[in-house]
Amino acid sequence: MNMTGIVYRPPYEAESLLLQVTKGCSHNKCTFCYMYPDVKFSVCPIEEVRTDIAEAAEINPDYERVFLEHGDAFVLSADRLLEIADAIHEKLPKVKTIAMYASIQNIRQKTDDELKKLHDAGIGGLDIGAESGLDEALVYMNKGHTAKEAEEQLKRLTEAGIDYSFNAIIGCAGSDLWKENAEATAELINAVQPHLLFLGTLHAQKGCRLFEDMKNGTFKECTIGQLLDEQEHLIRCLDLKDTIYFGSHPSNLVPMLAKLPKHKDEMIRHIHEMRKHYNSNLDEIPMRAAEGAILNR
Ligand code: SF4
Repeated sequence: MNMTGIVYRPPYEAESLLLQVTKGCSHNKCTFCYMYPDVKFSVCPIEEVRTDIAEAAEINPDYERVFLEHGDAFVLSADRLLEIADAIHEKLPKVKTIAMYASIQNIRQKTDDELKKLHDAGIGGLDIGAESGLDEALVYMNKGHTAKEAEEQLKRLTEAGIDYSFNAIIGCAGSDLWKENAEATAELINAVQPHLLFLGTLHAQKGCRLFEDMKNGTFKECTIGQLLDEQEHLIRCLDLKDTIYFGSHPSNLVPMLAKLPKHKDEMIRHIHEMRKHYNSNLDEIPMRAAEGAILNR
């Protein structure tokens, strides 16, 4: 099976068939991103994709879920995605969901009718880096969308029946705007009511602009105390009907896997307990390892 560069996937796609349909990311300029700096974006030829599907079907014909690689595979035209979906269903008849990373711009490029057809073809479980509901943060992070646009496009997905993970980043507005970021992000999440909320905390690795901005002080990182405040305030402001909170990313000070609104009080209590644990480090900036893993726990 062909695969270019490092392969990233959401943690809940561990059992899925990873199928490369694009290389790199069509946007490739988020300020914090270090995923595909040296990969020139391109679309994989359909024959190459068909060959990979046939090969995968020989190894395991029982796959139920496929995750399309790389950074924003939903950038493909609806026609190409439908062609890929047909090829998958033909060789892997048990596949129920074809998931992938998607951006707000990728949704905007598709009509309502196309979104419905994609849903009918099994496309769902989109993993979307909405990141924040605060426009100042979105501009600095160079996401290429506003909070209003994210709301409009995510609602169009829901209307078409396509479910998705709303990915948000704690600390992405920096230390001066942690409260505003929590409130604006909660407002956006409340407006779209995602089925899944994926929380990570801002961190940077060499190779992205954020890393340099953190080093030279252009971007003022949140302290441990502010990150705890932001996480608590975000959770307090959330008003959700039925959402899975997937916050076990290693970058998070308080990793949690929970359901909202069911576990809200419990989650806040847990943050309070962790605040006691971090009591002597509250004014420090977190020390991190790969994937943003916290070292000063
Ligand atoms: S859209 Fe995703 S993969 Fe592309 S640059 Fe932004 S964070 Fe990186």
